[in-house]
Amino acid sequence: VAKRRGGSCYQVFDQSCQQDYARQLYLETELRHAISRDEFELFYQPQLELATNRIIGAEALIRWRHPVMGLVSPGEFIPLVEEMELIHNLGSWVAEEAVRQQARWQAEGLQLRLGFNMSARQFNDTYFANRLERMLAAAGVAAESMDIEITESSAMDNPGNAMGMVKSLKALGCSIAIDDFGTGYSSLEYMQKFAVDYIKIDRVFICNLLNSTADQGIVKAILGIAASMDMKVIAEGVEQKEEMDFLRDLGCHEMQGFYLSKPLPAEEFACFTHQHNGQQSPLPA
Ligand code: C2E
Ligand code: MG
Ligand code: MG
Ligand code: MG
Repeated sequence: VAKRRGGSCYQVFDQSCQQDYARQLYLETELRHAISRDEFELFYQPQLELATNRIIGAEALIRWRHPVMGLVSPGEFIPLVEEMELIHNLGSWVAEEAVRQQARWQAEGLQLRLGFNMSARQFNDTYFANRLERMLAAAGVAAESMDIEITESSAMDNPGNAMGMVKSLKALGCSIAIDDFGTGYSSLEYMQKFAVDYIKIDRVFICNLLNSTADQGIVKAILGIAASMDMKVIAEGVEQKEEMDFLRDLGCHEMQGFYLSKPLPAEEFACFTHQHNGQQSPLPA
């Protein structure tokens, strides 16, 4: 294709590189105003307790709805937000919005653990736990109903910083989940010191689970480690019923993934959850 266009491969490569760079500059300019223009939203993905088949949790996942570009994925803009040092602001926005949503759901009688993601660059945000405490008090939400996800690699890259943040969040009463588990290098010693509540198995170990005995071995090993450290395990990226059944048989506690539901806007999430849980308990007490 490159040759027929009369150019070399390099030219095509350069062009797409330039386009990427132009897009990045544009995104950076637009990101500066995105919070004040109210362009971010949180979507929520349900988390199912395997033993009961009930939805007991949700993960908040950020979405950027730009007036011209439409939805931009967090995989693309979070690294830019981090580089631009806007992550403390965005991280606070995420926490505040999640807490407000939790308050709305609790007012509607929807009792769930609600998790949100935190970037490694927020670990040096010294007053984050303080602000979160005030947000919770203002909204009348118990810290115990909130869960904070930090990735395995962010926790292990800078265990000192991570430990400080984890301690102050746990002191509030929040639970902590280690996200993308298995993709980084974990020190079991740190895992124990962090006293995390949940391990989230990365979806790379789930997507071939049914065919790969190696991945089955890894999942079993993670379940064993978690049990010995008194942690629960959530499997990410479950896309098939057979994967869900397999995980339940292994004793995995919870799962989330497209098989159950994609991340949903708040109202849709509430409808979906009421309907799902309603079907699970035809004879409520
Ligand atoms: P994550 O926290 O590991 O979130 C899981 C990602 O997997 C989400 O992508 C989710 O939509 C996707 N996913 C869920 N189920 C399935 C499935 O069955 N199959 C497949 N293929 N994918 C599935 P998303 O929403 O694009 O988020 C990507 C990453 O961006 C997140 O990974 C997280 O690291 C980061 N992120 C998202 N929201 C926030 C936020 O508010 N703050 C920070 N700091 N990072 C965030
Ligand atoms: Mg996550
Ligand atoms: Mg993950
Ligand atoms: Mg991830």
